[in-house]
Amino acid sequence: MSDAGSGHTLVRRLSRWLVRVIALALAFVVLPGSAEPTKWGPIDLKSATVAPGTKLKFKFFAQQFFESRFLDTPLWAARGVKPGPTLCVISGIHGDEINSVEIARRSFQAVMPTRLAGTLIVVPEVNSLGFRNMNRYMIDRRDLNRAFPGTMRGSVTSQAARALFERVVRRCDYLIDLHTGSNFRSNVAQIRVDSSNPKSLALAENFGVGVIIEGRGPAGSLRREAVKAGVAAIIYEAGPPYTFVREEIEAGTRGILNVLDYLGMYASNQARTRSKKLKGSSWILSGYALFHIGTFE
Ligand SMILES: [Zn+2]
Repeated sequence: MSDAGSGHTLVRRLSRWLVRVIALALAFVVLPGSAEPTKWGPIDLKSATVAPGTKLKFKFFAQQFFESRFLDTPLWAARGVKPGPTLCVISGIHGDEINSVEIARRSFQAVMPTRLAGTLIVVPEVNSLGFRNMNRYMIDRRDLNRAFPGTMRGSVTSQAARALFERVVRRCDYLIDLHTGSNFRSNVAQIRVDSSNPKSLALAENFGVGVIIEGRGPAGSLRREAVKAGVAAIIYEAGPPYTFVREEIEAGTRGILNVLDYLGMYASNQARTRSKKLKGSSWILSGYALFHIGTFE
């Protein structure tokens, strides 16, 4: 090869190299008017940071009581690999309603974060001392579900409500609060929802398990205060307190997976059914138990 020929080859190689460098640089240029790529990374939950595609269980807050004991509330979080909404599942606000705790546990276990979009946050036993002692109420004998959104200058119950509301509830897009009947009464599987809130109603209908009872809920209840704060929220109630009921637990878990599917967070193979709407509700005595039913529209 002549000197002139080797010179041309060198120029061609340099040209090809230059073209590759320019093409690579252009690949990282965001053109004017094009959307910024969505930033999706770890979620900082104050007590812990959860990386995309992972799950973590950790202690959420330690609430010190007058007698120097602590309310240690666990918090479980699954951070998806893709951006999406935050669904919060809250259970054990009433410590004796143990079906709800098992529903929360199974739901969290069922979700693989590597297939998840968005974030699933589970607070499985808010009233953790009540759960361990089978006590509906908080340690100061107050009902936590009448104390939201709470205040840090109030009672122990009010402070616990405040901590949960500010640190968890306000960052949820959707919320499912799990309960059962109280005082040895058994509730027919039902969803309670403020039907004037379209996002909450859609959540209720797509839960797909049980009947829907309309209403805003009592003042100070988590569901009512969450909706006021802009979080779509429903309650799922099923079965009695103090007892695990397999069918109710399986149905509740199925409902949460239905909602995850509806929100586009987690694909589920199961078919969803729409729930029936009821207006009002009442108690009937049947054998040894009281059952909570609704009145069909
Ligand atoms: Zn309850």
